[in-house]
Amino acid sequence: MKRIGLLTSGGDAPGMNAAIRAVVRSGIYFNMEVFGIERGYAGLIEDVVMPMEMRSVSNIVQFGGTKLRTARCLEMLTKEGQKQAVATLEKYGIEGLVVIGGDGSFRGARALTEEFGVPTIGIPGTIDNDLEYTDYTLGFDTAVNTCLDIINKLRDTMTSHERVCVVEVMGRHCGDIALYSGIASGAEIIVVPEIKFNMDEIVARIDRSRANGKHSNIIVVAEGVMSAEQFSKKLQEVTSYSIRPTCIGHVQRGGSPSMADRMLAAQFGNKAVRLLNEGIGNRVVGIRDNKIIDMDIIEAVSMKKKFNYELYETLQMISM
Ligand code: ATP
Repeated sequence: MKRIGLLTSGGDAPGMNAAIRAVVRSGIYFNMEVFGIERGYAGLIEDVVMPMEMRSVSNIVQFGGTKLRTARCLEMLTKEGQKQAVATLEKYGIEGLVVIGGDGSFRGARALTEEFGVPTIGIPGTIDNDLEYTDYTLGFDTAVNTCLDIINKLRDTMTSHERVCVVEVMGRHCGDIALYSGIASGAEIIVVPEIKFNMDEIVARIDRSRANGKHSNIIVVAEGVMSAEQFSKKLQEVTSYSIRPTCIGHVQRGGSPSMADRMLAAQFGNKAVRLLNEGIGNRVVGIRDNKIIDMDIIEAVSMKKKFNYELYETLQMISM
């Protein structure tokens, strides 16, 4: 393969820039021409394509966001839109496409592969960690670290005032950001979409911790359950504790990527180009048991994300 394309799609995630750099540099290593497509599938359909060189990706490894920008593109869901996307690829002689994004973006890549025979490689770029085939997605680690930084600060003030803080984190329908940031921050309670919550049990847990000498409580609520505001209202109906809701919000999506995310970006980007260089497409790359893996894209998008109940129990056992 001599010409490849690259786009970022869906929600942005810290580490996307580092992955762009890895793809471009690996492509150049294999004597390929690499084309960057701006604003995801929208740019592919609208022909916003630019050649990428060694220096196009200088000094971006440390930044959040995506240099190629990203978009959600409804046209890509239609046959017409997909045909237009393929026409752009043909215009530039692009033989293979690297798509950095979440499961929606992978469905777009799958459509190009299945319907039009375009070899595609998906790199999991989403803070949500909602893809079953890979242990971690790009951006998740940084997003959780951002949550930890904020929860640490909240704990300071909640303890001074003996309050309960309800902290809303992102993750869409997946509770992983809540689970990991809850465990790593020492939150007493997490509320995730995968497990039905019982408010009486939550109150009993707070009461127990106070009886054991605790002066504050952190409840991490995943956005897929409800907002911090809504949860606080429900909790306040059954307790007299002083409660403060905080929504961490979009700050989770930005910031300099962590070491873990930069390492994933380097390896995912490099693996994607190695596959295309061998003429292999229709795959996604990921990490499982600390090894970089690749897998059939159709199989990967059909896998249902499983929740880690053992980690949830760990939190129950150690945070009290
Ligand atoms: P995140 O998990 O961060 O939200 P994502 O990649 O899942 O990222 P989506 O908005 O679901 O984000 O998808 C991104 C884009 O992928 C869509 O705007 C659309 O252009 C394309 N896409 C999604 N689903 C399909 C599909 N079934 N067929 C073709 N294209 C799709």
